[in-house]
Amino acid sequence: MSVSEPPTTDSGSPGRLPAPDRLRRTDTRLDNYVDRYAARTHGMTASAIRALFAVANRPEVVSLAGGMPNITDLPLDVVGSVLNELVVEHGRQAMQYGSGQGEPAIREQICEVMRLEGISAHPDDVTVTVGSQQALDLVTRIFCDPGDVVLCEAPSYVGALGVFRAYQTQVVHVAMDEQGLDPVALAEAIEAVRRTGRTAKFLYTIPNFHNPAGVTQTLERRIEILRVAEQADLLVVEDNPYGLLGFDGDPTPAMRSLDADRVVYLGSFSKTFAPGFRVGWALAPHAVREKLVLAQESATLCPPVFSQFAVSAYLAGHDWRGQIKVFREMYRERRDAMITGLTEHMPAGSTWTEPKGGFFVWLQLPPGLDAQAMLPRAVTARVAYVPGTAFFSDGFGTRFMRLSYCFPTPARILEGTRRLGEVLAYEASV
Ligand code: PMP
Repeated sequence: MSVSEPPTTDSGSPGRLPAPDRLRRTDTRLDNYVDRYAARTHGMTASAIRALFAVANRPEVVSLAGGMPNITDLPLDVVGSVLNELVVEHGRQAMQYGSGQGEPAIREQICEVMRLEGISAHPDDVTVTVGSQQALDLVTRIFCDPGDVVLCEAPSYVGALGVFRAYQTQVVHVAMDEQGLDPVALAEAIEAVRRTGRTAKFLYTIPNFHNPAGVTQTLERRIEILRVAEQADLLVVEDNPYGLLGFDGDPTPAMRSLDADRVVYLGSFSKTFAPGFRVGWALAPHAVREKLVLAQESATLCPPVFSQFAVSAYLAGHDWRGQIKVFREMYRERRDAMITGLTEHMPAGSTWTEPKGGFFVWLQLPPGLDAQAMLPRAVTARVAYVPGTAFFSDGFGTRFMRLSYCFPTPARILEGTRRLGEVLAYEASV
């Protein structure tokens, strides 16, 4: 099964680039400031996911929508004593301003974490960020002017599309299949951009347990994608928040481990520890790292020192590798429930990806069904998902939906897929 439609551009037509972004204005009579906002705000609209949260969080709704890490199994007594000791022993330093690049101790520990995916890095090349979301923001800030082209998968992470929109870039989607981004489609997209007299600023890719597609690039694919990138002298931004949450075997080597000069790697403790600390990072070639630190300093002066100390103390004083195993088993059980439920309840003509890790399944509906249009009925039937259109910059994706299995219990996931099956059966019958 293909997980995406053919390569498209913002204009929706393969191979043709749209005119420079003329983004919708967010005019509203209630907003007296509407004429004063900078042009870059016109692309800042609430994501489909955010709008959904209010209803999806009602207890009677089984939410297969949000992608919140499930930290139920995190031992709060351990974290509590780590934090207590931190305040008592290093409180004044931890509550002071710190380095714009991030604290030295955690940058060393980040290198240790990255070694698990084959990356050999020096702490000097790591910039700590406020989650990997801020790393995405900083990378886009230092590379992209309005109208610049960014290549990314079709579909892609909704939060990255939001950043690309906020910097007024033009997103060109590249097709993917069960093995991730398609290198042939990538070469074609690079060429299509070139024919317009422009050069893509970078490729943004999520090689492991893709959000939302749920697929993972094979090692061969990674090598091939990097070969295409090298031929085109294209920078690759590898976003890898889920890499250590694989259900089988060892992690696939990170793209960064295969080409240190071409890849900016983004990592995060949000899924391997807890998202509330907001500690992520970017590992970048040396020159890029200098620009990132300058951008970080102007954005925040320094990333939150207390959070860095807290994560650092947790890593030093707790069996974090063992904790990741606990998370992995918990997510595996939920993935299994999701696949069982889909197999039982989805109507003929639906297909879905079977993730080997991470949080998400990408479901393709039978022809004629529209995930966006049927969402109100689904919510009435007490099940929520994210319509596929949220993951494209151009309105594609109506036949797709993202289903998250990370948060509900296995029993609730089974019940959610049963409710979804009923909604789909009804929709197909009218
Ligand atoms: N990239 C991807 C693909 C994600 O799914 C997320 C979180 N949903 C992020 C980046 C940002 O995560 P954080 O800022 O919490 O590190």
